[in-house]
Amino acid sequence: IRPRDWSSDVCSSDLEALRRPDVAAHLTVVYQPVVELATDRILGAEALVRWSSPTTGPVAPDELIALAEATGEIGEISEHIVRTALGDLVRRFRPLAADFGLSINLSPVHLGGEGAVDLVDGLITESGADRRRLWIEMTETAVRDGDTVVDPLSALRERGLDVALDDFGTGHSSFARLRTLPVTGIKIDKAFVAGVAWDPVAQSLIAAQVAIAEALGIEVLAEGIETEEERAALLGLGITMGQGYGLHRPMSADDVAALLAAAAR
Ligand code: C2E
Ligand code: MG
Ligand code: MG
Repeated sequence: IRPRDWSSDVCSSDLEALRRPDVAAHLTVVYQPVVELATDRILGAEALVRWSSPTTGPVAPDELIALAEATGEIGEISEHIVRTALGDLVRRFRPLAADFGLSINLSPVHLGGEGAVDLVDGLITESGADRRRLWIEMTETAVRDGDTVVDPLSALRERGLDVALDDFGTGHSSFARLRTLPVTGIKIDKAFVAGVAWDPVAQSLIAAQVAIAEALGIEVLAEGIETEEERAALLGLGITMGQGYGLHRPMSADDVAALLAAAAR
């Protein structure tokens, strides 16, 4: 697997900042709740990294990941994200909601490299997290050569994790990926969701994705839900789970805990 390209907005001082031993001090993890669309019940959340470069300020997470893949810092950064998210899951979320699901994005460059499966597996064991409803997300477009992640993903499945194909339908060979990657769910990309309330083509494409998921017996979730019209249209197409700014924005662990506590009252 080759690292993804990264834009030239990121300058050499960011590269240096990324290599500094204290890089983790500037990384935070936020969480975007995943809800049951019919009821608003919170089912879990997706962990999303945030990085503020000490020299140029906030860097978009996809840029950070691409940069870290290119410089070789991806292993260290992933380890910090996974450890932080599992810590929040065990200490903050599951005490308030026993079935709370957690999704963590992993870079295919990292996962395809030496020792990544053992690292992730070891961090889960160390955290004491129950492996039920623990998801690894892999972005479809980032998997350039599916073969290098098939074995690591299969190994994670064997160790009790679920795997979701993220941004489904945006890559070159989405259907083929479903044959080769051992996935247990797909995330319908916001590119489709954006048109679902009014565009018959978007509706048909989502209906087709739902049919594929049903035929394969895997889960389906919609992301990027911004309006009530979109939520209603997705429910009409048989989608039960989703996330998006119209439901909840990505938020701190404290804010997730406050939402869960309020829901429990
Ligand atoms: P993703 O995994 O598909 O995450 C969803 C992205 O959509 C997030 O952007 C989220 O903030 C954004 N989003 C959520 N709801 C809406 C909505 O209603 N409308 C719109 N327009 N956007 C919405 P974010 O946090 O900027 O992350 C971008 C991408 O960076 C992620 O896409 C993922 O591929 C990558 N990424 C983020 N955090 C991590 C991480 O911890 N590890 C790895 N390997 N990749 C990460
Ligand atoms: Mg994701
Ligand atoms: Mg996505």
